[in-house]
Amino acid sequence: MKIKLKCPECDCEIELEDVIEGEIISCEDCGVDLEVKKKADGTYELVVAESEGEDWGE
Ligand SMILES: [Zn+2]
Repeated sequence: MKIKLKCPECDCEIELEDVIEGEIISCEDCGVDLEVKKKADGTYELVVAESEGEDWGE
């Protein structure tokens, strides 16, 4: 399943072959680490992966 998601940092589109919730990918454009998150409506979004233990809640 191919899916396109937007990088929240630079707004470019990232095409993924397979979407795995919780997977960390790197944006090819800006190089930021992004985490795949599943939203309540069943679609996916990319969020900037925080490595400093910041808790965003659910
Ligand atoms: Zn980017």
